[in-house]
Amino acid sequence: MSRSSELSCPTAVVHLEYDVADPPPRPEGKNSTRFICLSDTHSHTFPVPAGDVLLHSGDLTGTGTLEGFETTMEWLYSLPHKHKIIIAGNHDLSLHDEWYKQNFFRWSRGGHDKQAKLSRIMDLLEGRKAKKAGIVYLEDESYAFECNGRTWSVYGSPWTPYFYNWAFNYCRSGREEPGCSYKATDIVSKYPKTDILLTHGPPQGVLDRTLTQMNVGCELLAERLQDLRPKIHLFGHIHEAHGAQIHAWKGDEERGGVSDGPIPGAYPDDGSCPTAERTIFVNGANWPMGGGTRDDTGRRVGMGEGRFCPVIIDLFHESGEL
Ligand SMILES: [Zn+2]
Repeated sequence: MSRSSELSCPTAVVHLEYDVADPPPRPEGKNSTRFICLSDTHSHTFPVPAGDVLLHSGDLTGTGTLEGFETTMEWLYSLPHKHKIIIAGNHDLSLHDEWYKQNFFRWSRGGHDKQAKLSRIMDLLEGRKAKKAGIVYLEDESYAFECNGRTWSVYGSPWTPYFYNWAFNYCRSGREEPGCSYKATDIVSKYPKTDILLTHGPPQGVLDRTLTQMNVGCELLAERLQDLRPKIHLFGHIHEAHGAQIHAWKGDEERGGVSDGPIPGAYPDDGSCPTAERTIFVNGANWPMGGGTRDDTGRRVGMGEGRFCPVIIDLFHESGEL
C-alpha cells in the first residue's frame, strides 16, 4: 500500500511519515505553529519530535490503572512541548467516574480487582507536576492558550459511540444499548466552535474504517462539524485508520455544484479553492492495530515506528497575525 507522507494546502502542511530523529523543517517564510498529534498510546512510550503544542486524543492507558497513568504521564512530563493538551478515551476506564463505579469489576482480572483511586490519577493529570510540564487535561471542556503570538481555542471530549459498554460510550442517535444511559445528542450538540477539536473517536466517513471494512465513526459528529469547522480535528480510536485528510468547506456562493463528501457542507480538498476554510482531520492512533500487527513487508510493527509516527501539522497563521 502506498501512502503519501506529506499533505499540504493553503492553511497547513501535514507530515505523516518521516525520520523521527530528523523531523522535517518548518515551512519558511510563513508564520506557523507546529502541532504534534498523538492518540491511543496505551501506556507505550516512544520518541516524539519537538513542536509548540502536543495534542493527545485519548486512550492514554491500556485499562486506566494507576500504574498505566504513571507510565504515560512520566513520559508526557518528559517531553519538551510548552503546551500539552490531552483527553481520555474508552480505555481510560477509571476517568469515567460515574460509569466506572458501576463497571470496574468487569476488569477484575485486568488490574481492577479494587477501584483505582481517582484522586491519585487526577493528581497525575492535573497536579503540580502536570502543571509544571504544561499538561492540560480536558473532559468536555474548552481551553484557550497563546502560542507564537496567536491565541488558540481547543475543546476536548473523550466520548465514542457504544461498543461493548466501555468508558465514555454514548448511544448513537436513535439507538438504545444495554446498560448505556448516555446519548450522543446530549454530548455532541454541546461541542462549541473552536480552532482545535479533540475527540477520541472519528466522525462517520473520515478515517473511521475498520479492518472489517465498516465505517464506525459517529454520524452526529459528522453533522455537527459543519457548524464547528475547526482548523484541526484530531481523533484516534480506530487504530487501523491512522492517517490525515484535508477537507474544504463550501462557501455560499462558490462551488455550489460540488457535492458534499462524508462531512455535510465539505468536500475532500482538491486545491481548487485557495480561499476556502479548511479542516485538517487526523486519526493520530500510534498503536497500529494491537500486538502482532505486521507492515506491508511482513515485518512486525512496533510503537512509534514507520508510518505510525506522531503526525506533525504546521498550521499557518492567517495574514495579519504574528
Ligand atoms: Zn485505542
